[in-house]
Amino acid sequence: MSEKDPVDCPRCQDRGLLLKQKNGTWVAVPCKCKKIKALQRMIKSSGLTEEQRAVKLEDYKPTPATSTMYTMVKRYLQDFKNIQESWEVNKGLGLMGTVGIGKTHLLLAVANTLLNQQVSVIFVNTPELIGELYDAQFYHDEGGLNARINKLGQAPVVIFDDVGKERITDWVQVQYYRVINQRYTRKLPTLFCSNLHFDGIAEKIGDASASRLYSLTRSRQVYVEARDYRI
Ligand SMILES: [Zn+2]
Repeated sequence: MSEKDPVDCPRCQDRGLLLKQKNGTWVAVPCKCKKIKALQRMIKSSGLTEEQRAVKLEDYKPTPATSTMYTMVKRYLQDFKNIQESWEVNKGLGLMGTVGIGKTHLLLAVANTLLNQQVSVIFVNTPELIGELYDAQFYHDEGGLNARINKLGQAPVVIFDDVGKERITDWVQVQYYRVINQRYTRKLPTLFCSNLHFDGIAEKIGDASASRLYSLTRSRQVYVEARDYRI
């Protein structure tokens, strides 16, 4: 590297390590920039746009109809570390109900809060994912499809926004189930929101995936029927 090459971190010259004296000997300690870079990578792979990154829990204004949902989300974030470490499969959150009550807002707030705590989160626009999976059957790129499925199946936290928007074909149901079932087998926190209840979700995405989503979120599910909170 020539002297003129700019460095991101003037403290460690991008080596990621700093030499510090400890009890008379020099030891290498990780530089702060390592954490910052790790967070930047996490944010990049989260799938969140800059606009979505700005969504906060504090900006959600609960109404009498949505206060239960809001409280559940708030508690979830407070307890997250314990939930993540537990042996249960039921580590997620399911927000269901009428359009416009802020389910997506709350799930984005969860994503942002966890990311800020260095927890790796992937936020999935489910209709887009379904479209991707649908297209994959025509690509004949099994490696690409499997990589995508494994990534979502194994990520520490995955949030599925807007589940059950449309009825999906049998082939896509199988691929989506592969994602959900991996998360179930690995007991990984899996969150979702939907405009439908489980019966409706099952009709759209299939019984197998709906039943797994049920188990993954069993003790933290809420169904809210309310008028549009944005009005
Ligand atoms: Zn550094």
